Parts: sequence; structure tokens; C-alpha cells
Amino acid sequence: MRYPSLLNRSCAARALTAGIAALLSAGLNGAAEAPTVPTVTALLCGHLIDTAAGKVLGETTIVIEGGRVKEVRSGLQAPAGAAAIDLKTQTCMPGLIDSHTHLTGQTSRTEYVDRYHWNLADYVIRSTVYARRTLLAGFTTVRNLGDTANESAALRDAINAGVVAGPRIFTAGKAIGSTGGHADPTNGLRQDLMKDLGPVDGIINSPEDAIKAVREHYKLGDDVIKIMPSGGVLDEGASGDNSQMTLEEIRAVVTTAHDYGFAVAAHAHGAEAIRRAVLGGVDSIEHGTFMDAEDMKLMVEHGTYYVPTIIAGDFVARQAKVPGYYPATIAGKAIAIGPLIQATAGRAYKAHVKIAFGTDAAVYPHGENAHEFELMVGAGMPPMYVIQAATVNAAALLRHDKDLGSVAAGKLADVVAVPGNPIDDISLMKRVSFVMKEGIVYKLNSVPVDTGL
Ligand SMILES: [Zn+2]
Repeated sequence: MRYPSLLNRSCAARALTAGIAALLSAGLNGAAEAPTVPTVTALLCGHLIDTAAGKVLGETTIVIEGGRVKEVRSGLQAPAGAAAIDLKTQTCMPGLIDSHTHLTGQTSRTEYVDRYHWNLADYVIRSTVYARRTLLAGFTTVRNLGDTANESAALRDAINAGVVAGPRIFTAGKAIGSTGGHADPTNGLRQDLMKDLGPVDGIINSPEDAIKAVREHYKLGDDVIKIMPSGGVLDEGASGDNSQMTLEEIRAVVTTAHDYGFAVAAHAHGAEAIRRAVLGGVDSIEHGTFMDAEDMKLMVEHGTYYVPTIIAGDFVARQAKVPGYYPATIAGKAIAIGPLIQATAGRAYKAHVKIAFGTDAAVYPHGENAHEFELMVGAGMPPMYVIQAATVNAAALLRHDKDLGSVAAGKLADVVAVPGNPIDDISLMKRVSFVMKEGIVYKLNSVPVDTGL
């Protein structure tokens, strides 16, 4: 895989110490003057969700050392010398994974005008705030599916280096699509501002272009590939669901991407575009609005994941009714497409399509990601399944299930907690009270911890 090392040991050790020091200064165990800082942390959880087994366990102690889980024991018993964190009234679970974000932008009424005034740096500075909000909402890992000029890789690297607080990012850089399609940033502009873009800009018009575009992403150090086989809602093209890539172009992307160890995520609303993407071998279908029974059958056969992003459809459909929020072309597409995703997600679940949690964050304000859990349950999915979609399933889609997706000895110490049992009340997922990423505590008792970031 082209993925960066998941755990930078010296950085993690430094940050772990900082995290524990922050806990001590918060007066947790009154040992601020102790000569040695504990290197082992014990989370005393009232309950733990075993996402691999799909069960809610009783009182459980999670022992953490060096950014990884050392041991998971039943009962509440911290090892001697460990810094204990009391989560007895909480339900613990693995750090949540959002499989579809865009951390370097965010919706606003002025979004389509700002792009003529803002430099890339304006977006990047704001992205550090969005990243922190996402982490504090309990999302310790995201798959970032599209930016402008690979700026999300800089955000990823700054987070990994401990410069800013945020989730672990696996980024696609800029999405790949065709001329005039959903990935063409000059769509809908005045003719003299339109540009004839090529593979280096992520715009392809042949299998040869597709190969070059993927290799360009490898050169830039990206982690995953995002393609646009269908039209989309938030660009100024006429159609939100037409087919915009040939099967041969999709196959060329996928074959090359898999050569380099990249998974491929396909934005697709139309049934034909979904069919081509699945036959072309992509790893996930994003949105999937007009997915039909044949598409679902093919996805089950091919093991293709579905990332519904119901919250994005719901948000754009509501905002489209606010006069002037979107340009007219976009508002029309948002009203036609947005409200349909929830029902599609429900049908896909019933058809046994594998589902990974993802939200298209940026289309709605960052940090509100967990509302997707409620919408998934509203589509007919059981609460345990939607939590698995955001943990074990999303980790498998990322090809990082060895390190992520469940709380178990040897895995990265990403743990979040909510006050109560989310299986009984899924809305608790919006009230994450505790966040630990790689052994560092970022939120405790519902309050952000000052880690110095
Ligand atoms: Zn998206």
C-alpha cells in the first residue's frame, strides 16, 4: 500500500506524554507532582461495543500503551501504575471512521463566489478547524474523497506530525473525471474562463489519460483514488446522474490504481454509471442514488461497498429551498436527487449490499457527521449495523482492518465513548463525550482537552 505508516512512534510517544500531562493538569488523579508520568493508560468503561462480534459488552477495562491497545479485560481493574480514566457511565467503542469527507472546504451561501476571491491558503487555514471539529465529534479516521490541488495531503501530514489536531486522513487528492464532468472545476464558467484540462488536473478523456492521472496521484503521495463516473449535484453541469466515463476508462483507472495499491471510490448517482463502475472493478460506490436491483445484485457479487452519504442528500434538498443559497442549476438537481438517497440505502441494506459509513462532509457543516447514524437507522438499518458500518466495515474498505475498526489488543488506541447505550438511542452518537486517538485524549467529560494543539 502507498499508505503512510499509521504510527509514528516518536511522535506518538511525545504526544501520549502530552496527553497524559494534560489529563494530570486537569486534576484527574491529583498526581501532578509525581516524579514519573505513567506510560500506561486504563480506560474504565461501563460498556464496550465489540464491533467485530456485534455485541455490547458489560464493564470493560481497555489498557493502552504507546498509542496501541495492549489488553482488553472484562471488569473494571486498572493495572498498577496506570493512569485510569473513569468512563463507568459511558459506552466505549472504537474511533469512528467517515469514509467520505472533504475537509478542505465547507458549504456556505457565498461558496460559489468565494472561489473567485479566496486563495488555496484561505481554504487550508479553515481546514485545520474543520479537522479538529471532526475529531472532537468522534471521527478519528476519515477517507477524504476530493480536494482542489492535493492540499488535503498537507493537512494529513500536519496532523500526522502532531502540528494540528485532526483525524487520521487517507486522501484521494483531487478527484478524476472527464471534460465538463463533475470533476471539472471550470464547469459552468464564462467561456473565456473555461480551460481544456488534462490528466495532471484529474481530467481524462481516454484510457491512456486515466493511467496517467492515477500515476500522477501516486507521484503526489495520495492514498486512494476517487473517480466521477456520473454527473453530480454541486457542479454547474446540466445532469446530476448521466454517465460521464466509459467502461474502458473506469477499467484503466482501476487496473492502474490496484497496481499501485490504491482502492478506488466511485461517485455515482445514475444506475448505468453505477453498473459500469462495479463492472470496472471499483471498491466502493458513493451516493448511489438511482441504484437499481441489478446494480445491487452486481455489488453483492463483486463485494463492492456502498457509502450512502444520506446526510448530504438531506442537507442539499433542504438548502435548495432557501432562495439564493445555490445557483439555480444546482438547486434543481439538489431537489431532484437529494431526498432519494435514504430510501436507496434502505433497499441496498435489505439486498445485502455491504455498507460503509460516509457523509460527504463539507456538503453540510463539518462536525455534524453523526447525524448520518440517525438517517441510516431511519432507512431501516439496525443501530448495531450502522455502528459497524462506521468501524469494522469502514476499516475493511480502507484496507486497514488490521489496525482500525475494533478495540482489540495490538490495534491502534482509537476509542470514543457516549453517555448511555446508543443501541437503545442512536442519537447519542451525536453526543460523543470522550475521544482518544492513538492513545492521546482529545475530549474528556464532553470538554475538549488542551493537548497543546
Ligand atoms: Zn463527495
